[in-house]
Amino acid sequence: MSRELKVKSILGRGYSCNVFLVKSEENFLVDAGMDMVENVKKKVDGTNIESIVLTHRHIDHVADAERLSTELDATLYAPGKEAKALREGDDRTILSSSFGRSLSPLKIETLDTDIFSCFEVLLTPGHTEGSICLYHEDEKILFSGDTVFANGGAGRTDLPTGNRDELIESIGKLEKLEVDSLYPGHMSVVKEEAEKHIKRSLKNLRMF
Ligand SMILES: [Zn+2]
Repeated sequence: MSRELKVKSILGRGYSCNVFLVKSEENFLVDAGMDMVENVKKKVDGTNIESIVLTHRHIDHVADAERLSTELDATLYAPGKEAKALREGDDRTILSSSFGRSLSPLKIETLDTDIFSCFEVLLTPGHTEGSICLYHEDEKILFSGDTVFANGGAGRTDLPTGNRDELIESIGKLEKLEVDSLYPGHMSVVKEEAEKHIKRSLKNLRMF
């Protein structure tokens, strides 16, 4: 029998994204946030964290990645194109300079799509070229990064490597999933009937 799955939310402060602590067969963090190290460590509270999975390259999701990886002794992962940009410290597409920051090149592993036993890695380009979502089919949970938000929101596509058509296609894939709980990269979490929020996002995006 699989271990009970628990998700703890550490909601973003300031510009930071939300960070999620997932406790299941594997304990991991979804995204790292910006200026959130102490908050995250308080929530982690001694749990052994094996990995930190970054949904995409943007600075508000990755600024704390190196410190958290060191302090929690956890391996950093990002999807292929995002990992490449982070390894190269590509400030322009990471948006570090837009936030008045600079990010040292990260030591980061490429996220294989079959890394987890119970979470599926979904390739959902559009907000950035290599953005991903994580989906748990049995529990109907979706971590959506900056691809889709609560209440019909969707990620920006006017930033480097963004692509509106790709985002529509990606959210179209998400719309077909059974989703109860939505854990997006910003703003509020949805705990029931999250599918409706995703459908609204797609509708809004197609309309405007
Ligand atoms: Zn982003």
